Amino acid sequence: VACMPELGSVPAGLRGLLLGELPGIAGSIDRENRVPDGFLERLREEGAFDLGSPASLLEAVRLASRSSPAVGHLILIHGTAWCRVRGLVGEPGIVAVSITEPGGGTDVLGNLETRAEPGGGGRYLVSGVKVFTSNALYARYFLVLARGPGGPTLYLAERSDSIMVEPLDLTTLRGAGVARVEYRAAEAVEAGTPGKGLREALEAINLGRLGYAAIGLGIAEGALEAAVRWSLEHKVFGKPLADYQGPRWMLAEVALEARALEALIREAASEASDCRVDPLKAAMAKVLGARLAQRASWIATQLMGGRGLSRWSLTERLSRDSRALDIGEGAREVLLDFIASRVLKGG
Ligand SMILES: Cc1cc2nc3c(=O)[nH]c(=O)nc-3n(C[C@H](O)[C@H](O)[C@H](O)COP(=O)(O)OP(=O)(O)OC[C@H]3O[C@@H](n4cnc5c(N)ncnc54)[C@H](O)[C@@H]3O)c2cc1C
Repeated sequence: VACMPELGSVPAGLRGLLLGELPGIAGSIDRENRVPDGFLERLREEGAFDLGSPASLLEAVRLASRSSPAVGHLILIHGTAWCRVRGLVGEPGIVAVSITEPGGGTDVLGNLETRAEPGGGGRYLVSGVKVFTSNALYARYFLVLARGPGGPTLYLAERSDSIMVEPLDLTTLRGAGVARVEYRAAEAVEAGTPGKGLREALEAINLGRLGYAAIGLGIAEGALEAAVRWSLEHKVFGKPLADYQGPRWMLAEVALEARALEALIREAASEASDCRVDPLKAAMAKVLGARLAQRASWIATQLMGGRGLSRWSLTERLSRDSRALDIGEGAREVLLDFIASRVLKGG
């Protein structure tokens, strides 16, 4: 894993935090379903919430996801939104993105009931219920898709008593701050062009999809590291597991697919402009990243035998977290349909 090329540059202090300290607290983040305030503050101090370029953001997400995909997700969702809201806010703060509603996340417009009414002085009052809003537990700012006077539009609200956050107890990405959020006439400003909210949200989602691929890459690398260590140490019939051909081929399979995924993510990140990435490459990388993360965590669990199934262990967490990658930021089937439509057009 140490030999894998970087996707982008990450400040040394942040790298040390994500690779040195995070593995030690990743289990308790998972159990408690929350990142401790002190660790959030360390992330902020080391620059995790203002990484500059998509390539640096994706590298930080990947490094965190080797032990805590939830922390990788937190950095990612903030980063995808920060590109849009950076110029609109006075003070920095963690951003959450509220698009999905209780009716379902795939058909966003068909289920969009949240409304924004003019509130005077260029302000709006946003009312409605959103589900699966990641980062909501920690967020200072909420980027919300709502029906405004000009049609679906992105709005930016600052945390207040008019925003009710109720944590969700998911089996996956525990600690990513995922919540049901109710907006009760919450004050907001426009954060995009009236009527273009869906298109603008999808632009952020494309970077998010590439980020999900980076989470998948991190999970695969975390699982591979654990599986390699174990295979070298653990003996069966007097010789290390790593001497048997079956396990060797499993490890090789993960290593080569991780290398190919890394190349695809790096290519898409290098072409990014203003946080916009190629939607086809992002979709392809996300589908590949989810599949590799699920396969790699399965292999690590399999090689570790019963120990790989221990509650709150790294392998168990990576297996649970890899499952979210086929649902969040667009379900696998929707992405495959999109890829197929491009393939059928000869793209
Ligand atoms: C961990 C996590 C974090 C999330 N974070 C956020 C967030 O920060 N902000 C936010 O707004 N949302 C967030 N979401 C919501 C996410 O975007 C939705 O879960 C996703 O868009 C799918 O919507 P849904 O779960 O409502 O499933 P639905 O839209 O109800 O779809 C259910 C299933 O139907 C199938 N399906 C749907 N459409 C098609 C189709 N056209 N063809 C074939 N099959 C189809 C798929 O298998 C899909 O999984 C998050 C979700 C998760 C799990």
